[in-house]
Amino acid sequence: MHNALNQISLPLQNIHVDGFSVSGLSTYLQIPEMDFCFDMGECPLSAVSLNHVALTHAHGDHSRCLMRHDSLRRMLGIEKEAVYYIPYMLVDAFKKVIEAESVFENVPKDKFKMPKIISVQPNTIIPLAYRKDLAIRAFEVKHRAPTFGYELLLHKHKLKPEYIGLNSKELVALKRQGTSITKETYDSKVCFMGDCIGESLLENEHVWQSEILICESTFLDENEKDMARQKGHIHIEEIANALLTFEHTMQIKHLVLTHFSMKYSYGFIKHKVYQVIPERFHPFIHIFRE
Ligand SMILES: [Zn+2]
Ligand SMILES: [Zn+2]
Repeated sequence: MHNALNQISLPLQNIHVDGFSVSGLSTYLQIPEMDFCFDMGECPLSAVSLNHVALTHAHGDHSRCLMRHDSLRRMLGIEKEAVYYIPYMLVDAFKKVIEAESVFENVPKDKFKMPKIISVQPNTIIPLAYRKDLAIRAFEVKHRAPTFGYELLLHKHKLKPEYIGLNSKELVALKRQGTSITKETYDSKVCFMGDCIGESLLENEHVWQSEILICESTFLDENEKDMARQKGHIHIEEIANALLTFEHTMQIKHLVLTHFSMKYSYGFIKHKVYQVIPERFHPFIHIFRE
């Protein structure tokens, strides 16, 4: 019924979110315009050319194909090293898995090469290796396993407010005198929650300031609220509650709902989402599921 290589392509203003996300099966979300992929629960050929991959947590349906991404690049002769952004607490275990796989595949020791891994600390801005206009910042969320959510940030140099209104001649003169006329800014373009419980939506108020919020919405049935919490996932009523909580302060323009349980049909998902979430929020909700 579900095929993780059957991708959904969701156009949102000037970017696309392409991929697949069904709880327990596979999650990978590519943003080709930003040369970036969140998680790698499956590795379609479309993801192979992406140079930056960030892992939220170690559960197999999110992490299983990280090594496949690296090995497919080698097989296809892509010389540029992909960069893997891994939560710091998972880096050692991840390296062991990579080494074990090379033993399993009988790769000679002198041919083995560890992929390029960046150990990610939360609440720290990390510029993307091959895109100076972009950076990521991780934040901690609550799930059954240690998990990070991520914000993808647009890195810009903006004119300081005191110099707005000056003409180019005046600005050049200031620059010649050695005055710094710009300041660095980081605008949150896409925020991905990873797997988490509903509380994480309330505890991380900043996620509602991003332009596009991608959020798991694993459980939908009224009688599944306790189960959602036990399994470390969000129930749709918690999303409705968070929307009401941040209604007057949030900046999001799109809310993409992902990671629905595999047992639900598309019809049931659509019915529940639009039944539980108040109508005024419907125009910016996207159901990431076929
Ligand atoms: Zn998951
Ligand atoms: Zn998980």
